[in-house]
Amino acid sequence: MVPTPIGNLSDMTFRAVEVLKAVDLILAEDTRTSGVLLKHYQIDTQMNSFHAHNEHRQTEGVIQRLKEGVRMALISDAGTPGISDPGYLLAKAALDAGLQIEALPGPTALIPAVIKSGFPNNRFVFEGFLPLKKGRSTRIKSLKDEIRTMIFYESPHRLLKTLIQFEEYFGSERKVSVSRELTKKFEETINGTLIEVRVHFESRPAKGEFVIVLAGNIDL
Ligand code: SAM
Repeated sequence: MVPTPIGNLSDMTFRAVEVLKAVDLILAEDTRTSGVLLKHYQIDTQMNSFHAHNEHRQTEGVIQRLKEGVRMALISDAGTPGISDPGYLLAKAALDAGLQIEALPGPTALIPAVIKSGFPNNRFVFEGFLPLKKGRSTRIKSLKDEIRTMIFYESPHRLLKTLIQFEEYFGSERKVSVSRELTKKFEETINGTLIEVRVHFESRPAKGEFVIVLAGNIDL
């Protein structure tokens, strides 16, 4: 499991490059996106596609080939495989088959976002993407009394709607931190109460990739 940069190509680790050069095959979420990264680091290992739409179908075959001794690395479009990206099913199947997994440490969006929030980070909850429709309110409601810092991934076109929903369930004065475009040219982090941050994004169209970090139900 090899993490790749979430924007800034220099965030690739030396070990990630070494592993991607050494394996027989790279399984990539999108071979075109990853092609840019591999070219940058002069990695010419063969790539096969492995994404959310074919991971169920492919997993068995991949496990079989791993058992035969083919060395493979899994990468996603950005960040750590398995973190809101394909990877979990393959990790589980590999363990079930008695294989060992190596998971390299490296880029992921949630960690810089939680650090930049300034909220307690000795304990936190990663919620990933909220359900789009069914179960969305129930999920948010279930977090009402959560005292740990909460981290959500969100798409730009749903950001404002989510902040409004959060105000409804957590109250306008709850503290929030929204990080966008982490490690990229237009990186910024907006910290404030839910009402302040919501007003901020009402006057600016949300562009890029976002992480929402919500303070727990405690006095900060
Ligand atoms: N595997 C990735 C990771 O380890 O963070 C997450 C992939 S998930 C499909 C994509 C979501 O991650 C985006 O919608 C956004 O919420 C978050 N994300 C990824 N890169 C980001 C960045 N550079 N800045 C802010 N959020 C980012």
